Formats: sequence, structure tokens, C-alpha cells
Amino acid sequence: MKICVLPGDGIGPEIMAEAVRVLQALGRPFEMEEALIGGGAFDATGDPFPEATRQLTREADAVLLGAVGGPQWDALPREKRPERGLLGIRKDLSLFANLRPAILYPELADASTLKAEVVAGLDILIVRELTGDIYFGQPRGVREENGERVGFNTMVYSESEIRRIGHVAFRAAQKRGKRLCSVDKMNVLECTQLWRDVMTEMARDYPDVELSHMLVDNAAMQLVKAPRQFDVMVTGNMFGDILSDEASMLTGSIGMLPSASLDDNNKGMYEPSHGSAPDIAGKGVANPLATILSAAMMLRYTFNLEDDAQRIENAVKKVLAQGYRTGDIYERGANKVGTQAMGDAVLAAMG
Ligand code: NAD
Repeated sequence: MKICVLPGDGIGPEIMAEAVRVLQALGRPFEMEEALIGGGAFDATGDPFPEATRQLTREADAVLLGAVGGPQWDALPREKRPERGLLGIRKDLSLFANLRPAILYPELADASTLKAEVVAGLDILIVRELTGDIYFGQPRGVREENGERVGFNTMVYSESEIRRIGHVAFRAAQKRGKRLCSVDKMNVLECTQLWRDVMTEMARDYPDVELSHMLVDNAAMQLVKAPRQFDVMVTGNMFGDILSDEASMLTGSIGMLPSASLDDNNKGMYEPSHGSAPDIAGKGVANPLATILSAAMMLRYTFNLEDDAQRIENAVKKVLAQGYRTGDIYERGANKVGTQAMGDAVLAAMG
């Protein structure tokens, strides 16, 4: 069970330290090896995704990542930016399916900016395609045209790419509430008309799943208005990027939400849904729970260690019930703790 550990930038190293402690406490023979990624990797090697890291991620069964990025690297040319490291891993390992649960823990119902009665019991899974779409489409760039600069990108999806992510989403829906909402912008974008057509064709192979379609602007609205109508949502890379962040805020804190990015063989990269939070980096106040829960997803999806995954998830529920809160989910009367103390609490709750 070989795990490539990539702490990354900003709060990455702080939250990763807690996830590693939790994994170690399980007493399994994990082989964990650390490597550089993102801005820190660029500073050390001139490359946000160095060759040594590439080798390690290829050899590992799973990759556990903190976060990458920060303002000090924002002015770099695009191919040197920290995010290139992330996109590079996703592409290199063919991690095409991003699974992002948005679950509202009852103890945190008040942390949501929405009314508790709108979000209580929320349990959505967003399945986002991760290796295609306008983020990777060619041609792309900025060129001179008629004496001014013109920026352009290309939204592109092949039928096989749509089918591949469609299967992941339909199968996920089969294991949950059997409802799948496919999100597109078919009224404007031909590419997403194809997306809708292919999803509709695929629905015939999954008669037990109720497929619906929604335009992305409406989906953004419905997520705020009546989010519990959704079970599983499937969408392309760009719309999924935005909607999954929106869904995560329904739960009160992006610091609580894990994610998995999988290939065809259960190899995966696991990471919190949030970024590197440069505003709080190095202060020891970041919420490590999203990273700890990402480690739990890794145990479930890559290593098939369902009991260990649940042991961690139950410990997280327990520390919330006990009143432990990092600043991002703090409410009056709770026990405010920092990153490491939250890790300690999870370890204690694991028994
Ligand atoms: P962000 O998610 O880093 O931060 C948004 C807000 O949420 C901030 O106020 C931050 O303090 C807070 N926050 C995030 N994670 C938290 C945690 N675990 N505990 C407590 N509070 C937390 O998003 P951003 O500010 O838009 O981006 C910051 C940097 O992260 C940028 O360089 C961006 O490119 C990068 N980024 C990286 C990833 C990734 O590594 N997967 C994802 C998104 C953004």
C-alpha cells in the first residue's frame, strides 16, 4: 500500500501532518513517501511538477495531496504555475473522475449561510469530469488581432470522454438515491448539446436511475434555493469546478470537504476541496478535517479498507459532537482549537 504524500503549499503541510498521523494510527503497513508539488516544487526545481514527483505518483497506489498555490507564484508564466502541477498529475495518471461529496453534518447546520431547514440532511455527490473541457482544449492562448489582444480557449468533449464519466456517475447514483442530474449549457454550447445527447442515450443502460438535465445557470440557482432536490450531479470540468465549490459552501465550510479523483482502476488522488488558504498559512489554525476525510476516501476507494475509512469518519463525527471547532466552523460556546489539537482530538476519538 504505497502512498505518495504531497503536502504542497500554504496550509498544505500543516493539514497533511494531521492526516499522516491519523493514517499511522491505523497501524497498517502503509509505505508513505513525500515529494514536492506546486509553488514549493517550482522554487526548488524550476518545475511545479518535477520528474521525481511524476515517478513517485506513477509508482504509488494512491496520492494524498494537501493544496497548491499562493500569491507569490501568481505572476509566473502559466506553465510554471503551481496549478500546473495538479493538472499535470490528473492528466498524467488519467484521473478523469472527480468525486466531491457535500454532506451537512447535523452539528454544523448553523455554520451554513443558508437556513438550517433548507440544508439540514444535505447529502449531494458531485461527479465532475476532470481531464477534458475548456481547461485542456486546444487551441488556446492570447494573440494580437486588429491591434488588440484577444484571448481564446476551446471547449471540447469527445463522445468517449462523456461516456466514461457518465458511467462513473450512473454507477454512483445506483449506489445512492438513484437520481442523477446532468448539468450542461446546451442552449448556447454545441459541445454540451452532445453531452446531453450522450447522457440521454446512456440512461437506457441504467433503467433504475432517474436521469434529469439542468442548465448550469439554473443548477447554480437551485443549489442555493433547494439543494436537497439533488442526489448525484454530473457535469464537465469547468461547470463542475464552480458548482462543486458552491455546493461545498452550503455545508458551512470548505475546510470539511474531501475529494477523490479516480482512474479506471481505482488508483486515485485524494485531496481536500479547498485551496492553500495563504491568508491563514503557517498560523496553525487551518481545519485539517477535509484532508483527514480525504485519507478516509483513499482507504475506501483505492485500498478497499472500508472499516478503517469508517473508523476515521466516525471519529470526525465524534469530535464535532464533542464541540471541537477550528476557526472556519467555530460558533459561540464551542471549543475552539487549532490544526494540531483537532488532529489530536480525532486520534483520541479513534480510540
Ligand atoms: P482557498 O480554498 O485556499 O481559500 C478560500 C477561503 O477559505 C480562505 O479564506 C481560506 O482561509 C479558507 N479556507 C480554505 N481552506 C481552509 C481550511 N482547511 N481551514 C480553514 N479555512 C480554510 O481558495 P483561494 O483563496 O481562492 O485560493 C488560494 C490559493 O489556493 C490560490 O493560489 C489558488 O490557486 C489555490 N487553489 C488550490 C487548489 C488546490 O490545491 N486543489 C484549489 C483551489 C485553489
